[in-house]
Amino acid sequence: MLEVLRRVIQEVNGARNLDAALATMVRRIRKAMRTDVCSFYLYDREIEQLVLMETIGLHSQAVGRVSLRVGEGLVGLVAEREEPLNLEDARAHPRFRYFESTGEERYSSFLGVPIIHQRRMLGVLVVQQSEKRRYDEEDEAFLITMGAQLAGVLAHALATGSLTRPTLPGGQALFNGVAASPGMAIGEVVVVAPLADLNSVPDLIPTDVEHEIVRLKEAIGRVREEIRAAGERLANRISVQELALFEVYQQMLSEAALSQEVEKRIREGQWAPGALADVVRRHVLYLERVDDDYLRERAADVRDLGRRVLAHLQEETPQIPDVFPESTILVGDEISVATLGEVPRERLAGLVSARGSSTSHVAIVARAMGIPTVLGMVDLPLPRLSGAEVVLDGHRGRLFVRPSDELKNRYRSLIAEERALAEVLEHEQDLPSETPDGHEMPLMVNTGLAIDTTVSLRKRISGVGLYRTEVPFMIAERFPGEQEQARLYRDQLESFAPMPVVMRTLDIGGDKDLPYFPIDEANPFLGWRGIRVTLDHPEVLMVQLRAMLRASQGLDNLQVLLPMVTNVDEVDDALRLLDRAIRELGEEGIEATRPRVGVMIEVPATLYQLDALAERVDFFSVGSNDLTQYLLAVDRNNPRVAALYDSCHPAVLVALARLAEASARLKRPICVCGELAGDPAGALLLMGMGFDSLSMNAPSLPRVRAAIRRVSLRAAKELVDETLALNTPSAVRSHLFGRLSEWQLAHLLPPRD
Ligand code: PEP
Ligand code: MG
Repeated sequence: MLEVLRRVIQEVNGARNLDAALATMVRRIRKAMRTDVCSFYLYDREIEQLVLMETIGLHSQAVGRVSLRVGEGLVGLVAEREEPLNLEDARAHPRFRYFESTGEERYSSFLGVPIIHQRRMLGVLVVQQSEKRRYDEEDEAFLITMGAQLAGVLAHALATGSLTRPTLPGGQALFNGVAASPGMAIGEVVVVAPLADLNSVPDLIPTDVEHEIVRLKEAIGRVREEIRAAGERLANRISVQELALFEVYQQMLSEAALSQEVEKRIREGQWAPGALADVVRRHVLYLERVDDDYLRERAADVRDLGRRVLAHLQEETPQIPDVFPESTILVGDEISVATLGEVPRERLAGLVSARGSSTSHVAIVARAMGIPTVLGMVDLPLPRLSGAEVVLDGHRGRLFVRPSDELKNRYRSLIAEERALAEVLEHEQDLPSETPDGHEMPLMVNTGLAIDTTVSLRKRISGVGLYRTEVPFMIAERFPGEQEQARLYRDQLESFAPMPVVMRTLDIGGDKDLPYFPIDEANPFLGWRGIRVTLDHPEVLMVQLRAMLRASQGLDNLQVLLPMVTNVDEVDDALRLLDRAIRELGEEGIEATRPRVGVMIEVPATLYQLDALAERVDFFSVGSNDLTQYLLAVDRNNPRVAALYDSCHPAVLVALARLAEASARLKRPICVCGELAGDPAGALLLMGMGFDSLSMNAPSLPRVRAAIRRVSLRAAKELVDETLALNTPSAVRSHLFGRLSEWQLAHLLPPRD
């Protein structure tokens, strides 16, 4: 059965379109299970009906005509319960319903499984048999597996609009990812093709098959020429056997081999790069499995040749086009900051990528630039998205492909409201961040990039609450040297002096990798991260501390923040290195003053060691992003559990309230620099709890300031008391929404469903 399963899955994935995939699937299932009927019912959300989409065994005229409500008949029961239903005598079941057009009365046994994708029921897969038969456990497992497989294929088809049944709502589809930068946009997709990577070539339907074939032949011709030239260049330097390999390459690239197969694939409906990637991957897979060392090694050669041809093909298909639609939504498997830079800012309306997370570099840049962004869209079907109209919701991490007019209109008015609000709020940005009852709530900014426009906000902030030093490290090609870092830090410190600039020591690891210092771990968020890395590499930390101290000379507005602290020892070790750096600089004739030092409160262990930490450092800064992920054991970047990730979870709020109290008792100022501080409702709670300052991305400042200027400290404290009495994140969120609505401040919150 396993072999059959593997084959069916391959066939379904390789099918030209959804119709072909469904037709193949029901036929293969019927054959594999030796049963009479196999049918698939699609749940059409618009009409709230399960529609028979494909069958082998029932009357084909019934396709598209038979439909049932959820809960109606046996198929409806499977959909309602979202559980398999296995009946030896279906007609005896009280829910059995007879549809004349299907010719169903002849069938006795029934096995149905729901098709579920990301908790959403998409349809039901059914097998039936005329004589009584008890489908066994293996049958059930087989059908469930096929259903899970079909779920992915269906989700893709819905997104690409390739589901063409007239009963379906125009192919509008919704995809969820991680909200990485707020804002909304309506625009046209431009797919970013990665360079010469066989595994990330999108599937596209060729507009001109003959042209694709000509392109392919030219690209292969160029690679053959390159190989011939390379062979000639090396003729005197390598052995005869090695030289013979070049002949093998030439043969592989000959008409009879690669070229013909790829051409066939193009004629089947794949563009040249996609067809090449398909064929090369198949050969590589085959060669890697062969029990022969020589052939196995050829797998690498085939892959290499494939990439060379692909590189030539991609020369003609630029990674991104020269001309961009007015409202470009850049979509790719992975989008680099460099690619981002190629799109004129005024045309770049949004970003979507299958990989990446809210802390990835591109997300940080997008937030600084105010570009709505959703990352980690793992299910995104890049194929055929090119040119599609989409609605991007960076607040809720959603992408609607081929949106209906109604949805577009809804978003048009939301976008207009957001724009109008920004204009209104702009007028009060130069006013103090002070509550109506006279409480001053200092607002700071998070920085990390040279392109940060925050300098222009000088008058409106109380300093930099978090300078993420890893960002310049991420752009570099090696660890920047002491002078280089000192220049960078000086820029930051000077730009904001005499206001404080809190510089965090390198916080790499987790999902923040440096290209020249990869950390490959099974569990990176629980692994070598932040101070754990820099204490293991004191040479890196020392250079950084020295550079910071040098940069601060004469300004003395530097504060140093230690990330990912778990143990008091780590603080002691870091302080020892700081003192050493000061000493060393002194010996070199550079007078460095000891900066104030703080610890990030983001690992839950620190919550219970505040006294010991307070003895060692001058201030605390709460990384609510990580504190939330570690308290709730929810990966902050995983879209599958994104609904569980909420910094307003009652447990997180209780922890924060206690933190604020403890810091006051210990006389250590405490700031929040995670995303919660930039959420107007979160900011009010944090103010009510007694936090001393809030640090956020610059685009969040206007809303937070507006909230603070309208809610008294007394009311914020009451809000904290009310909220802490609630037991679930949803209760907290709705209470916050309710109160903010009462205070006429709901418009400051991101749009809700
Ligand atoms: C945090 O964890 O909340 C934080 C501010 O740091 P980062 O997002 O860079 O991990
Ligand atoms: Mg953090």
